[in-house]
Amino acid sequence: MQHLLIVNGIDGPMRKQFGCDCARCADSTPQANTSVSLVSINADGEAVHHLLFDVGVGVVDSLVRNPYFIGSNARLDGIILSHWHPDHTLGLNQLCVSYHLGLRRRGITPPKIPLWCRRTSAAWVQVQNEYEWRSFLCPHVSDESYPPGTILQPVETALPDVRITPISVSHFSADRCPYAVGVSYACAAFVVETKNSKTVLLWDIDNQNEWLAAPQTESEKAAVTLMAGADNLFIDTCFWRNKTGRSTHPSYENVLRYAHTLQPQQTLLMHMSGHPDGRGNRGWGWTNAEWTAAASEEWAVQGLPGTVCLPGIGDILDL
Ligand SMILES: [Zn+2]
Ligand SMILES: [Zn+2]
Repeated sequence: MQHLLIVNGIDGPMRKQFGCDCARCADSTPQANTSVSLVSINADGEAVHHLLFDVGVGVVDSLVRNPYFIGSNARLDGIILSHWHPDHTLGLNQLCVSYHLGLRRRGITPPKIPLWCRRTSAAWVQVQNEYEWRSFLCPHVSDESYPPGTILQPVETALPDVRITPISVSHFSADRCPYAVGVSYACAAFVVETKNSKTVLLWDIDNQNEWLAAPQTESEKAAVTLMAGADNLFIDTCFWRNKTGRSTHPSYENVLRYAHTLQPQQTLLMHMSGHPDGRGNRGWGWTNAEWTAAASEEWAVQGLPGTVCLPGIGDILDL
């Protein structure tokens, strides 16, 4: 069995600001979102399993263009949500309804789609997507509120040779959902391991995950060990320079520190904006190409391993 990771999207969650005149906002090229499909391929080249990580706006548009899901080859065996924020869940209605209608048109009774998320994220989806939760989804709620840097129970899948391990991460307002009581860490990163490779999906996070750079407890050290040396590291990177205090997302300066600890082979920057850097500063208004060039230059200066870039829609990683 071959396993592929395919990048989804149609626009990055924070890429454009209404009323902004920067080069990034003026670029009409569709961009990757914080979503990937894990697609398992049999010896005949057919997709026999599909797990979708996050369902932001535009994800369905890229799924219908995925060469493995054309026409009756479309399939969806599970959804995994990193967290409840709307830029990761807004496509749930379009996805559930369009997939079910497509199956019915082919004479297939649609099964409920397994959905994995943490308890506080479930609280959000149950309210905001009550119709989808009730009609289309089969929730698998991880009832764990362990703090950032804790390895959680593996996600159950039908794939014997793929292991998906969630790790608790801190992510600003996601840690406090309006429909859940108190602080309960709602967000997870994922380590996807196959026989041949390790891939880390590390979005969204804030700048309070210092355990990524300097793990202290045995739990944090175990989490970093699991993530370290990955073939592919997808990582939330929203702007260039560090902010003072708590910020919603990490800067590239934060990411460089994490990369020194995690030592990935290939790094892919997700959730890019640059707007928080402010007009005229590094990062502000940069296109993906400008970000990749500047990030690569700094990567080399710091002696970090492998390459760094921004992924594009439809990029395929062979796992
Ligand atoms: Zn978020
Ligand atoms: Zn996000």
